[in-house]
Amino acid sequence: MSTTIQLTAYPGKIASRTVRHVHRFRASSGTNVVILLLLLILCGCKHRQLTTPTVQMDIEPEFWIRVLLLDDVTACTLKTVSPFSVLSDMAALPTEITENRYNQTNVPMRFELANGSITIDGKTFTNEKVTIFPDDPYIFNLNGGDYRGKLKLIVNPDGNSFDAINLVPPEPYLAGVVGAEMPGYWEPEALKAQAIAARTYCFYIKKRFGANREWDMKQTAAHQVYRGISAESSQIWQAVNETKGQVTSCKQSDGPVDIFPSYYSSTCGGHTENSKNVFGDSFETLIGVPCPYCQDVAKPKFFFWPMIQFDKADVTARLLERYSQLEQLGEIKYITTAGQTNYGEFARLTKIKLIGSTGKSDFLRAEDFRLAIDPTGRKFRSTICQIVELSGKWAFFSGRGWGHGVGLCQCGAQGMAREGKNAQQILSYYYPGSVIISIY
Ligand SMILES: [Zn+2]
Repeated sequence: MSTTIQLTAYPGKIASRTVRHVHRFRASSGTNVVILLLLLILCGCKHRQLTTPTVQMDIEPEFWIRVLLLDDVTACTLKTVSPFSVLSDMAALPTEITENRYNQTNVPMRFELANGSITIDGKTFTNEKVTIFPDDPYIFNLNGGDYRGKLKLIVNPDGNSFDAINLVPPEPYLAGVVGAEMPGYWEPEALKAQAIAARTYCFYIKKRFGANREWDMKQTAAHQVYRGISAESSQIWQAVNETKGQVTSCKQSDGPVDIFPSYYSSTCGGHTENSKNVFGDSFETLIGVPCPYCQDVAKPKFFFWPMIQFDKADVTARLLERYSQLEQLGEIKYITTAGQTNYGEFARLTKIKLIGSTGKSDFLRAEDFRLAIDPTGRKFRSTICQIVELSGKWAFFSGRGWGHGVGLCQCGAQGMAREGKNAQQILSYYYPGSVIISIY
């Protein structure tokens, strides 16, 4: 059956959930003093009133975020808790959309590519783009992960694979990001600062790059980590909903106030870095600031990182894999620091000089060098370190901090929130001169 329908945004809610903490005390003559002390301590603690999470689904389609969930695949498995529609654009009539209904629920369904077309439960869709639209509560499970919104499948131009893209309103998207980026039990104002930073970053990337492709964001740290519903909690929803529509902005050097790429990283190590030295862009608000806050929040084993070593051949291979222009260097023989920012007791490497067996040399930004050698960044955690040759290997030692160090320091935000600072104060500290504005 085919019908013509209009795609619109829709409202939605999940069941309310209230978290209560029940404290019971049994009085006895010998414990009265202890109880009194406990009560005094408890009364002094800040109580966290958790509100009922409301899933914000009702917003104009122009604000929806398109998240790339699967890239270049030939099959995937979908499951829904409600019936769903499969909508496909009519190539000849772009304003018309055909709808096919599927009433199976809680049944894993295989979506496959066959002869350049997507087949769902045996039915072939000849259109290169199909959208899966679950009924209320607008939830689907893709390859084991739960997400809100819709799922769009797009066959790649060569017809050999397809991409899967989650179309999701910004607030449920951000709940899946903030909960993946910060523990839900952190201070509410730190979570709100993270929500605003993540919202700003997402809309910056969407605006800058989204028009030229079918998706806005990757779901990895390449952009920002998004784990869908599994990252959600009452605290996370509270931070997202209380900052609904808020982004941070700054005066551009050659224009009006606008949003900027509000980078953030885990632990700056004591001083954040100028974006120019790390990403090569220059925004007036992305300058380094001292951060006395993260050291008390991050565990020592995460604030400082242990010496790591890599085989020289591996380092050459990994650099070549990402930077083919280095081929002319041959085997990398010398790695030296060509630029660094000094902060007194430590320095962050910003530029690396590579000299090869052919005698030729080249330079890389230190952050690019780090991620080429360790793309996960889990071992080679930051560029606050020193480099030496040790027993025929490259060794990196005296490491501190985790991440690129530009913009908001997440552990620092938690430290500031613990000291009573609010989200606005945290953001204007790490993004000097920035102002929070509402975009919807
Ligand atoms: Zn910090």
